[in-house]
Amino acid sequence: MRTIETDIAIVGAGAAGIPAAIEAARRYVKVDVFEQADHIGGSCNGGNGVFAVETQMQKEKQYTYTKKEILDYWAEYTHNTVDMRLVSEFINRSAGTYEWLKSFGVEFSDLIAYYPGAKYVWHFRRDGSPFITDLLRLVSEEAGAQYHLNTAVNQLMMKDGRCIGFRGKDAEGELEVLAKAVIIASGGTGKRADFVKEHTGVELGKDITVFPGMLYENPATSPKLGVELCWEAGAAHTPLMIDSFASIPDPNFGPGGVPAQLPWFRQPQNICVNLHGERFISEYEMRNGAFMGNAIATQKDSTAFMIFDQNMRDYYESVGMDFVMGNVHFMDELTADEYLDMNAARGNQDIIVADSLKELCGMMGIHKKLIDTVEEYNRNIKEHGNDPVFFKDNKYLMPIEGPTYYCARFRRHAYGVMGGLKINYRTEVIDTKGDPIPGLYAAGNDANAIYGDTYPFALSGNTSSFAINTGRMAGEHAAFFVK
Ligand SMILES: Cc1cc2nc3c(=O)[nH]c(=O)nc-3n(C[C@H](O)[C@H](O)[C@H](O)COP(=O)(O)OP(=O)(O)OC[C@H]3O[C@@H](n4cnc5c(N)ncnc54)[C@H](O)[C@@H]3O)c2cc1C
Repeated sequence: MRTIETDIAIVGAGAAGIPAAIEAARRYVKVDVFEQADHIGGSCNGGNGVFAVETQMQKEKQYTYTKKEILDYWAEYTHNTVDMRLVSEFINRSAGTYEWLKSFGVEFSDLIAYYPGAKYVWHFRRDGSPFITDLLRLVSEEAGAQYHLNTAVNQLMMKDGRCIGFRGKDAEGELEVLAKAVIIASGGTGKRADFVKEHTGVELGKDITVFPGMLYENPATSPKLGVELCWEAGAAHTPLMIDSFASIPDPNFGPGGVPAQLPWFRQPQNICVNLHGERFISEYEMRNGAFMGNAIATQKDSTAFMIFDQNMRDYYESVGMDFVMGNVHFMDELTADEYLDMNAARGNQDIIVADSLKELCGMMGIHKKLIDTVEEYNRNIKEHGNDPVFFKDNKYLMPIEGPTYYCARFRRHAYGVMGGLKINYRTEVIDTKGDPIPGLYAAGNDANAIYGDTYPFALSGNTSSFAINTGRMAGEHAAFFVK
């Protein structure tokens, strides 16, 4: 078996692993990064934008959020069920990391809040600018880090309770990596449907939709998950959290869960029903895709439908929409009608246009009770001017009367699955007795157990920012440990 000796071995060349490589290599230790894929970048090349608080851009735009305010929000959101020292370390470093990224050429164009009431903390990467991970890889290589692609790590090596490296496999066969410290940055457990089903009861790809290519095809031959590697070595377990939101299934995916051309499907004026043709939540909840995804998961086949009519479409086009996401575009050349035609031509039934509710029910498989639901909804608006079921604000109440009806099917859709490892604010992996495992660090999704049960869309850009910030922290602390 071949042996590679290094100071710091990093598992995974994504949003966490590459910043870890920069920080460690800049502290004059030998750094080797091992990536199972034939390319770097992980699940989203560093993401579309990063969360940060008290940045220069926020100050220039007069957003006055403070770190304290965000930490307080976090405490309330999670009920302090997560490691708040780790959260405060992350928040404290976030503005510095935003500047750090800019110093390497990452271009940010705007600040975005995901929904009305959400915070303007998502620093959006300029459309078409280079990916964050591509830029950072160059910086890490200039500092001396070496990359080993097509190399899957399969077992940690432990001696006297300390991590001393790992075994893995590349195109030439088995190899052993002897390291003074190992950083796990393998991106969470979302590639393994069997593992997630075993530990959450939810089946990726069935109970919840996923991006094409997200799952490993064969768990038996796929690389080990970083979480598995650490659990086998005695690491404590944290619950897995599915990072998910309400979305029309692929290929109709887009910003906010809808194609860029059809933001009408996520407006609060629409009516939202389940397969029984009944409303089950206020349509206003659509603003926060994660919360709406949770609600959809409580319904039959984890399925919901958003419906609007021609009248509403005219209103959206002439007056405007209530739920918009800053300058998020991801646009291509098609108009809305061209998109609808294209979708119909490919035979996709997740978005349809119908001439009557009866026709709509038949096409979508919705119970015809929908007709009564709409009648009752319209009657309440016209006769009483209210929504006695969900108390939707009057300003969002519009009767649905045709003559054309637009309907989209929504499911709960996963971005990834995070958590599993417990780390402290120095990113040391904690064992089952509650103590750090010497020489073992983790960053990014594998160690992201800071949200409780649901991703906080109010603080968007959070997961990639957590990955980049904890990656930096792991690189720094591991280098200090090694020295
Ligand atoms: C479509 C999409 C859009 C997104 N947009 C945003 C956004 O705008 N803002 C935001 O904050 N987040 C966003 N995210 C989430 C963000 O991309 C992730 O939070 C982030 O990439 C996690 O970083 P990571 O380093 O933990 O994992 P990754 O970046 O996925 O990197 C993990 C790497 O480890 C490798 N690996 C896995 N197992 C092994 C093994 N055994 N041996 C060797 N290598 C291994 C993987 O191949 C991968 O390259 C988005 C995600 C998706 C899918």
